[in-house]
Amino acid sequence: MISLTLAAFFLAGLAVSALAAPSGNSIEAAFEPGAKRLRVSATLNLSGAPSPEVLVSLSPRAMGLAVSNGGKPVRFSRSGETVRVSLPAGASSISLAYALPLDPPPASLPATQDNPGALASDAACGPDWAMLMPGSLWHPEVQGAKGTYRLRVSAPPGVKAVTQGALGGFEDTPQATLSAWTVDKPVGRLGLCLARYRFEESRQGPVPVQTFLLEGSARLAPTYLEASASHLRFYQELHGPYPLEKFAVVENPLPTGYGFPSYTLLGSQVIALPFIPATSLRHEIAHSWWGNGVLVDYAQGNWCEGLTTYVADYLAQERDSPQAGRAYRQRVLRGFADLVRQGGDMTLSEFGSRFSPASQAVGYGKTLFVFHMLREFVGDEAFWQGLRRLYADKLFQSASWEDIRRTFAGLPGFDEAQSRAFFAQWLTHTGGPRLRIADAAATANPSGGYSVNISVEQAQPGQPYLLKLPLTVETDGQSAESTVMLDGARTEVTLEVSAAPRRILLDPQADSFRVLEQSEIPPSVNSVKGAEKLTVLLADDAPESLRAALPQLLAGLGQERARIVRERDLSPDKIADLARQEAILVAGKPRAAIPGHKDMLAQAQGADTVFAALPRQGGFTAVFQATPDAAPKDVAATAAKVTHYGSFSVVGFKEGRNVLKETLDAPNSPMIWTFR
Ligand SMILES: [Zn+2]
Repeated sequence: MISLTLAAFFLAGLAVSALAAPSGNSIEAAFEPGAKRLRVSATLNLSGAPSPEVLVSLSPRAMGLAVSNGGKPVRFSRSGETVRVSLPAGASSISLAYALPLDPPPASLPATQDNPGALASDAACGPDWAMLMPGSLWHPEVQGAKGTYRLRVSAPPGVKAVTQGALGGFEDTPQATLSAWTVDKPVGRLGLCLARYRFEESRQGPVPVQTFLLEGSARLAPTYLEASASHLRFYQELHGPYPLEKFAVVENPLPTGYGFPSYTLLGSQVIALPFIPATSLRHEIAHSWWGNGVLVDYAQGNWCEGLTTYVADYLAQERDSPQAGRAYRQRVLRGFADLVRQGGDMTLSEFGSRFSPASQAVGYGKTLFVFHMLREFVGDEAFWQGLRRLYADKLFQSASWEDIRRTFAGLPGFDEAQSRAFFAQWLTHTGGPRLRIADAAATANPSGGYSVNISVEQAQPGQPYLLKLPLTVETDGQSAESTVMLDGARTEVTLEVSAAPRRILLDPQADSFRVLEQSEIPPSVNSVKGAEKLTVLLADDAPESLRAALPQLLAGLGQERARIVRERDLSPDKIADLARQEAILVAGKPRAAIPGHKDMLAQAQGADTVFAALPRQGGFTAVFQATPDAAPKDVAATAAKVTHYGSFSVVGFKEGRNVLKETLDAPNSPMIWTFR
């Protein structure tokens, strides 16, 4: 890590970039926090402007606008965001000067808003900082042209400015701090952030990696520099050269989580969370290739969130272990099954950006499965090569789903017709396949071994899907793996195995997207939260600590109005009645046999308090148990935390700290056939 004082390079840097980008635009801006405004003077290059009139986009809030050419005023008119300028003959540039008023900080902002190339429209400031989103149109841009820029910003002493592109340098004078930036890659409108940043830089990555952190977060710089360089190297290796001049982690006094070309803008609270360098930062850096490198043509929907999530969040799990990869895919499928039940489904071609949990399950979850299944069809090597080719071909251009299809069509195992069917079915339909092994039979062969006939059914309404599914036949002592292609409502396959088959497992690793049946979804903390009618049974010998914590547990689960039954009031009739309830929660260990109930403390080694949701015929039985010597404050702490472990079936705590979290396997799956 090197921390540079770049003042010496400041003027030289500007001179060089002026020569390097003769066709570019230049912006001079002065941040005046006292007056709550940004004064701007910009010169736009018009080379190639075909008409005697040019249309420029600029914030309608820009005040005192003057337009000139070669120092002489030029006629213009304004309408909304458009400035219509009448060009003098032979004009090759125009200059605009104006003042942009800045708002006070917004009262509330979404805590995290992952959104590459975000065009949010805030232009806000505080006493020593300002945040101008690209969508605020704070600088002028010739409509339809993505320009290159030289930028020079002056601000009160100590206040540095950050934007995309390459850092020219900072220069401190007694009156002001000057920041210079050069944007040579035309990737659209610029955002601009100003604050009392501590600047650090590392050259360990393929390009300079920088942090712009406020005093309170400055100690995090080494962590963010190292993580950024490591992610950049990873994606450079996977996808091809990083496309931009630098990567910077920029702290925002406002609680945002944006990814822009060549930098990410993270709120102070977000930046302090210990898991961000390995998770959100990785995701935002992957957007440098997908979303900010290759841009999105939204005509058939937004593919880039799903692909970014696939190569960042998902791939990190898959590289960790095959089990972690499978668990991630299963979580996606469960999330989608919930969505379908709640009726919020949409097609991928309708997905633009994340605006609800429902569109997240589709735009992120279902989309990442499309890429995973594509990888299954064409094979690992061809898949990663295809993405490299797509990136090389489409860098700084818009790409659509159709461009992605064309990249992979014609590869072995994925001909033109298959590629069309594959993308049409995933992009234009809601829902997904509902699969089951409808029938299976094994016949002993005279020459030894067995022929296994398997019939797979697609039970969803409408067209059958084209699917490529792994299939495992377990025999005594070994298993045979195969792949089956489905393209009809019913597909018959025959496999030869050497010994008597025991079980058939269709897609055992959850590699293919489908709508899970209710029976395939193990109960979880979320099931308890979502139960319409929960009955709570309080065991007579429940420790006092558990009784005391029960109201807190129920409040956390949103079940404070659940009916509570005491064990001593239970008659045999009432126990039978309890067994018919869909959702039961048992606190403590009752003497009577309660359906589905288990002593989970015995299985949760080391935990002093356990919460679990266990499958049972017709519903689930949740348990809440604590050892007799567990400290009441620890049991209370656990009770408050359970709600945060929504997708897990079993969670165990010791002294209030989580020591166990597990999701149980599906109790019953139509994808498994057991021979008797
Ligand atoms: Zn994203």
